[in-house]
Amino acid sequence: MPSYRSPRGTRDLLPDERAAFSRLEGLARDMASDYGYQAIETPLFEQAEVFERGVGAVTDVVEKELFRVQAGRGDSERERWALRPEPTAGIVRAWVQHGMRTWPQPVRLTLTGPMFRYDRPQAGRYRQFWQFDVEVIGDPGPAVDAEIVELALAYLRRAGLGDVRVLLNSIGDAACRPAYVERLAAYFRDHEADLPTLERERLATNPLRLLDSKDERMAALIADAPRINEWLCGPCAEHFERVQAHLAAVGVEPVLEPTLVRGLDYYTRTAFELYRPSAHGQQQALGGGGRYDGLVELLGGPPTPGIGFGIGLDRVVRALAEEGVTSPGPSTPDVVVVGADPEDTIRRLRVVTDLRRAGVAARADLGSRKLGKQLESAAREGAHFAVICGDEMDGGHVVVRDLDAGTQRQVATADLARELARARAQHRHGPAAG
Ligand code: AMP
Repeated sequence: MPSYRSPRGTRDLLPDERAAFSRLEGLARDMASDYGYQAIETPLFEQAEVFERGVGAVTDVVEKELFRVQAGRGDSERERWALRPEPTAGIVRAWVQHGMRTWPQPVRLTLTGPMFRYDRPQAGRYRQFWQFDVEVIGDPGPAVDAEIVELALAYLRRAGLGDVRVLLNSIGDAACRPAYVERLAAYFRDHEADLPTLERERLATNPLRLLDSKDERMAALIADAPRINEWLCGPCAEHFERVQAHLAAVGVEPVLEPTLVRGLDYYTRTAFELYRPSAHGQQQALGGGGRYDGLVELLGGPPTPGIGFGIGLDRVVRALAEEGVTSPGPSTPDVVVVGADPEDTIRRLRVVTDLRRAGVAARADLGSRKLGKQLESAAREGAHFAVICGDEMDGGHVVVRDLDAGTQRQVATADLARELARARAQHRHGPAAG
């Protein structure tokens, strides 16, 4: 017999965990909407170049982790595709493609869905994971920078994580960063012999990226490296000051972290990450974001500023579990239609269908077990009411049984939906609801 498993680095979300994700997705949708963000969907795959340019060719995500899509054999389109490793590039591609520059500016967009990275699987690191993402395109900040940092933090707090820290930095712009990167490269060149192989290669292509290295051998070198805050030009320093003033105004106190970078030219100024202080050592951010004032242009649009964040829902679910925050399990209808005659599934299916058409959430036991067994499993699965279809139906009645109280009474089939609605309301508010 073949024995199949979900691919390495992926997992099935069974109903309990799916319910936890659904709650986070619902919260993301509601909060983004309350803040004025409109939902967008982009394809799960794009032309690979969208990511190669939009994320950056010299990044782990593109160099090592991009899931390239092999089309079917008859493919004549000759496009190179890849599964999206993150949402920003696809959203910016859509912004350009659909002429969103003619919409009222800025355009606030949100997307929640699966992302794919061919990463080495480990705790909290999957090959398919979910992100709640927001983007604001067309506003240079600094106020909007603070708005989205506050949104990210408020989201994690409302999700149930009380203690979350924001790390904040400015990585400058095209005017000031090149001189800093040159200084940084000189520093690392002085220590070239101590660099791991990948970092030595990166030194030639993208020195800023070295600050982002997860290699433990780099920690001491990074701690002593020149800091960007001393190199910011006037406008970048002022922008950074003003982001902090806006954050202070809304009660957000970030930790300034001068080694936090987004190492590509089109990322500018604001960069931030969110951690639980207790889990900081694990190097696993719950989410992160930053400004990308050069990205729209890079993907074929006019020069347009943008900023966004992505929060990893898998990490949030895990953090909630670690902190003992429980979310409600999957919900099932509290009304179950059962039958006195186990074989008579026609009656049960008709009654449950009529209930659904009348707007009552209900399930039916459509198996052929005896009535007693049907009632037992209805109670075990948490139903509060059983509708028993029996001989009374010939006279236009069914029996409604309150499974908690153990009482029952006849109800005219025509009144069933109304009666159930009334009984459920009483059940919720009455003493039995306890
Ligand atoms: P990044 O775009 O790398 O800053 O990722 C944003 C957020 O997505 C991270 O802070 C994580 O919460 C989450 N994330 C990134 N990669 C993974 C992964 N391989 N597995 C699970 N979550 C991830």
